[in-house]
Amino acid sequence: PARKPAKGKYELDERLKAYQGVWVFVEHEQGEVHPVSWELLGEGRKLADTLGVELCGVVLGAPGLRTRRFCDEAFFHGADACYLVEDPVLANYRNEPFTKGLTELVNTYQPEILLLGATTQGRDLAGSVATTLQTGLTADCTELRIDPDNRSLAASRPTFGGSLLCTILTLNYRPQMATVRPRVMAMPDRDAARSGRIIEHALHLLETDIVTKVLDYIPDARQDKPQLPFADVIVAGGRGMKKPENFQLIRDLAAVLGGEVGASRPVVQAGWVELDRQVGQSGKTVRPKLYIAAGISGAVQHRVGMEGSDVIIAINTDPNAPIFDFATYGIVGNAMTILPALTEVFRQE
Ligand code: FAD
Repeated sequence: PARKPAKGKYELDERLKAYQGVWVFVEHEQGEVHPVSWELLGEGRKLADTLGVELCGVVLGAPGLRTRRFCDEAFFHGADACYLVEDPVLANYRNEPFTKGLTELVNTYQPEILLLGATTQGRDLAGSVATTLQTGLTADCTELRIDPDNRSLAASRPTFGGSLLCTILTLNYRPQMATVRPRVMAMPDRDAARSGRIIEHALHLLETDIVTKVLDYIPDARQDKPQLPFADVIVAGGRGMKKPENFQLIRDLAAVLGGEVGASRPVVQAGWVELDRQVGQSGKTVRPKLYIAAGISGAVQHRVGMEGSDVIIAINTDPNAPIFDFATYGIVGNAMTILPALTEVFRQE
């Protein structure tokens, strides 16, 4: 257990001082690295520079050229070194072999900070790695910095339904673990001139010892599969759109602008649009160049998912709607008449 605070300062156990460096788990699936990994390397670079330690990527996968390429990409995005575990049992993500691989690496090389994406894979892995290592994990962070008093990770995240932001320190446990959602941190510049060291580690695990088996991989074949977190333009609708048929006005404008359709939670809960189009605290975090919000009040739980957008245009009948407090441009009026007018104008452009 952590010692009692003395003027906000904790004394780190001597044995934990051996833990050094910032690590980022490089998540990949079907040969593609999840961009959140590069965003985390960008953020990890700042933490490592503040601490004066190395920034390292961690790649686990089946033997082959791809994993080496992922290490190179990690260097291009800021890593100084990459830990690489190659084994046929790591061909597809499964909790058991990945947890074993990552915990083995941590126990052997002892990083002080370990960051993962708050994706389906990252959330699954972070939880089991933290419990196996018996260390602290702060999930869904929106800000990471180094606490100068304790030289430890100060991880901030919304709490109490988004109405408070709390900062969590993992004291006297190492590594300090955190997950961050895609698009919360900015993408760092890619520098193809960078290089680094690859540190290989062997995993001794037999396929026959793993409980779960991958029988087949079936990709989501939907033609219009939402790509919300990486869209440049999003047109989102809320309860102010009144009924599901009116949502076609949102789709029309999104189509003309080459953008994606987003939604507030009540609209998703009413079944007007799919769950993976929800923006906000319990949905996706987005950072488009343009976010048009029609009939959305701007509740804090929606705001936290879209306030990183470059330009926000709000359309709302209520001039006192909270969304006007942070929108770049506000249109006070009926979305049912304004949306078709905008669609028409952009169609002519
Ligand atoms: P409302 O708040 O009902 O606002 C509708 C708006 O439409 C009003 O401002 C109204 O003036 C306007 N309007 C009405 N008629 C028109 C018209 N004709 N033209 C233009 N404007 C019009 N919400 C999310 O969105 N995402 C989340 O991820 C999320 N997570 C949550 C997690 C928790 C734990 C909790 C407690 C809540 C969460 N919520 C989330 C819900 C959130 O608190 C709000 O209830 C929700 O965002 C409100 O959605 P809305 O703006 O569409 O509806």
